Amino acid sequence: MGKVKVAIVSCKSYGYRELREAIARSLDLIGGLGAVMRKGDKVLLKPNMMASKPPEKAINTHPAFVRALFELIRDFGAKPVIGESPGGAIFGTKRVWKNSGMEEMAKEAGAEIVRLESSGIVKVKPPFGKKLKEFYIARPVLDADVVVSVPKFKVHGTMLLTGAIKNFLGTIPGIHKIDFHKAAPKPDEFGDVLSDILSVIKPKLAVMDAVTGMDGNGPTFGRARDVGFVIASPDCVALDAVAATMMGIEPMKVYATKHAARKGLGVADLAMIDIEGVPLSEAKIPDWKPDFISNRTVSRIPRFLLKLYGWGFRAYPLLNERKCKKCGECIEGCPTGARFLDNQVPKVDFKKCIRCLQCFEKCRNRAVRLKFSYFAKQWLKSQAGGI
Ligand code: SF4
Ligand code: SF4
Repeated sequence: MGKVKVAIVSCKSYGYRELREAIARSLDLIGGLGAVMRKGDKVLLKPNMMASKPPEKAINTHPAFVRALFELIRDFGAKPVIGESPGGAIFGTKRVWKNSGMEEMAKEAGAEIVRLESSGIVKVKPPFGKKLKEFYIARPVLDADVVVSVPKFKVHGTMLLTGAIKNFLGTIPGIHKIDFHKAAPKPDEFGDVLSDILSVIKPKLAVMDAVTGMDGNGPTFGRARDVGFVIASPDCVALDAVAATMMGIEPMKVYATKHAARKGLGVADLAMIDIEGVPLSEAKIPDWKPDFISNRTVSRIPRFLLKLYGWGFRAYPLLNERKCKKCGECIEGCPTGARFLDNQVPKVDFKKCIRCLQCFEKCRNRAVRLKFSYFAKQWLKSQAGGI
């Protein structure tokens, strides 16, 4: 097996010209867009949109970064769209698109936004699935000819790194994501299920926004700081291995990277990676300060206690009958058939509901509300980065 390429290119700002040139160069260094897609291909760009926060907080992939990549792919002749099922679902996902600046950017660039919580689902059985033998993934992700991970360069207090692999948790619709945390409460187990998502998606490209990044208590409450790079690779595992090394983290200590590499989904061994552009020794960040206190805490809690916590972790879509116009749209749109009419009133069969949130997002009359258990509310608030 030949070596995998990872390109590191200097980029000091989100100024459009500099950004576009840096991303274009990073792609050239790994063989060009022609190596991973053809003209006319449907391409899904998956940015990291964790919270309803502006770009300068460095929580989400910067919209200018997504725009430059989107336009390069469009100019190449493929058909890119931007898809995500963002964090912050507890407060509604529309505000994440708006407050992150992604909605305005998409309008200016003429880019289509695909809301992955309300665009259909597919039940999948990952080939190595141990903790989750099957789960649901947003249909447009599997319908795309090419999926591109567009992550942010960030520490993850529990999982160590939130990179190209972990970014794909956002392809799981709505708060069906909670089922992953319940099935795999320990960081190592969660890394395993993240690699299962990767095994189903089979992305062909990852381009990381490392112009600014986050150390400290990431992925939401850390310190935003200048990093100054674009990192690109056809291999998500290799890209994450390089990003971890730049942060001073041993790649195989990153749970998702370890499991993905062991399943043969990519390369984490630096000896098997050709770095193009800026040498890795120069790209390492000497004063990078990750805070892994939540990893140490969660690692010490016995599994049965985490499981217990998971049982108390509930979320439901409920009906506000006063507001409901009985239009039936939520029933037609429910991907699992969990919603049904009972005496003209929409009801939910919670055994079938996967909490994709399609009904919540789609109801124009705001007649679907979300009810969360105490634990679920606290966790979702922390994921959303607060209100
Ligand atoms: S979409 Fe909203 S208003 Fe229409 S039936 Fe469903 S809950 Fe009622
Ligand atoms: S009732 Fe249907 S549409 Fe609503 S969250 Fe559950 S599965 Fe999704």
